[in-house]
Amino acid sequence: KFHNKRPIIMANWKLNGGVDLICSSVASLINQPFAAEIVICPPYLYLRDMLNFLQHSQINVGSQNVSKFKSGAYTGETSAQMLKEAGCQYCLVGHSERRETFGENNASCQLKIERALQSGLTPVLCIGESQKEYECDLTEQVLTRQLTESLENIDLSQQSICIAYEPVWAIGTGKSANAQVAQKVHYFIRQQLKAMYSEQTAQNTRIMYGGSVNKNNAETMLEQPDIDGLLVGGASLDPAHFSEICNYA
Ligand code: PGA
Repeated sequence: KFHNKRPIIMANWKLNGGVDLICSSVASLINQPFAAEIVICPPYLYLRDMLNFLQHSQINVGSQNVSKFKSGAYTGETSAQMLKEAGCQYCLVGHSERRETFGENNASCQLKIERALQSGLTPVLCIGESQKEYECDLTEQVLTRQLTESLENIDLSQQSICIAYEPVWAIGTGKSANAQVAQKVHYFIRQQLKAMYSEQTAQNTRIMYGGSVNKNNAETMLEQPDIDGLLVGGASLDPAHFSEICNYA
């Protein structure tokens, strides 16, 4: 690959799993020497258990969300500082399900990214166009807006983020994007980062693909020059399936 980066494979469990899944996932992943960086994002409640089980392993843990607030009267929130202190390395920001169901937008993503970076967490900014936007050929326009608004005033000269390109129409549908099409979009995202920051920041930023990733399409996706990793939802709930995906990287 032109970009000399370690690939990253992230599992997003969403509102799934429990102690049983933690145990079976850990068992199937813990003793494998993966070339890729592996990150698991279980629900908040299980972060501690996951971190304890993975203490002496190479596998990292991330949260599926983070508060845009630092502290105070915000019932139900979890701060970046708390996640960092617990041992998390990553947090997802602006997943399309959060945007659709919980009213998140580019402005809240911007605040969350700021908080995450201030606390030493690496935010994974999720972006992607809806089915309708895709059909109207608005993908590039939507992505440009998501990137510029979510990264406004975010300095990436000393710190890094990851980007996950997840076309909304591909999430949980079994209809993953075609690898060549995804590559074109990833290239476009990298060009945007170059325009907003620098060539170096663009090259150093890992851009993952997400949306119906499974063991049949993972390898082809990872072969694309601008696809640096995968964000896996449904297929990460089956430990054997997920570890097969991890082995392709
Ligand atoms: P999926 O979800 O792999 O089930 O499509 C991906 C995601 O939402 O991150």
